[in-house]
Amino acid sequence: RTMLKIENLTATVGEEDEAKTIINGLDLEVPAGEVHAIMGPNGAGKSTLSYVLTGRDGYEVTGGSATLNGEDILGMDPEERAAKGLFLSFQYPVEIPGVPVMTFVRAAMNSQRKARGEDEISAPDFIKKSRELGQKLKLDADMLKRPLNVGFSGGEKKRLEIYQMMMLEPKFLILDETDSGLDIDALKTVSDGVNAMRSPDRGMLVITHYQRLLDHIQPDKVHVLAKGRIIATGGPELAHRLEKEGYDGVLGEVA
Ligand code: ADP
Ligand code: MG
Ligand code: MG
Repeated sequence: RTMLKIENLTATVGEEDEAKTIINGLDLEVPAGEVHAIMGPNGAGKSTLSYVLTGRDGYEVTGGSATLNGEDILGMDPEERAAKGLFLSFQYPVEIPGVPVMTFVRAAMNSQRKARGEDEISAPDFIKKSRELGQKLKLDADMLKRPLNVGFSGGEKKRLEIYQMMMLEPKFLILDETDSGLDIDALKTVSDGVNAMRSPDRGMLVITHYQRLLDHIQPDKVHVLAKGRIIATGGPELAHRLEKEGYDGVLGEVA
């Protein structure tokens, strides 16, 4: 069963008169239960794709379609997309002074529940869920009471992101691992989180510039994004080939 289906998508970034086409005829399908990786050179449009899918301001779709479980998501506002279960990691990398992590996550959970016409989670249920997950992720209970991301180390921020993600139980999740230097511990945190989230009714898109994350995640498919579209698709071996040969080989073959 296909969860995410993107057909001939084109999208621009920037103000009207200076709008640049960054996504340029992109096709992609991710079935439920699968983890797909997207790799590609810097500036290929990987992050742009994730912003277009989640509906961030400043990104305009100029053609094509994107559906989640058969529903057009491009016509929805970002909150509706989130309520449908679409989750982009690093959606909240900002420091929010004064707002404790738990308060923030509870508000996010309740806004999604509300959009789905569900009741708010009760305080005891929330605390129980949060405590269980916190223990699993080895998060200090005090940490969850501190303001979001303020004064956390890189590794702690990563674990907090995984905590937020797992609390929200997204149906389809997009991880944009940017090109930031993840150390080994952070890499393990992220990959353990992704692996724990694998489920027959959940789809995942892991965007990464480097192959090493995929040593821990083992994607079902690897796609290469270049010049705004998917130019090659393969299994995990494709990621290894890219690591060895760089993108030039694959790009040359396609050209
Ligand atoms: P990747 O994540 O693959 O490294 P991005 O999606 O971040 O690539 O960027 C793709 C291209 O779009 C780059 O050339 C980048 O400079 C350009 N771009 C991204 N955001 C903006 C923006 N807000 N305004 C203008 N150009 C942008
Ligand atoms: Mg980049
Ligand atoms: Mg990027």
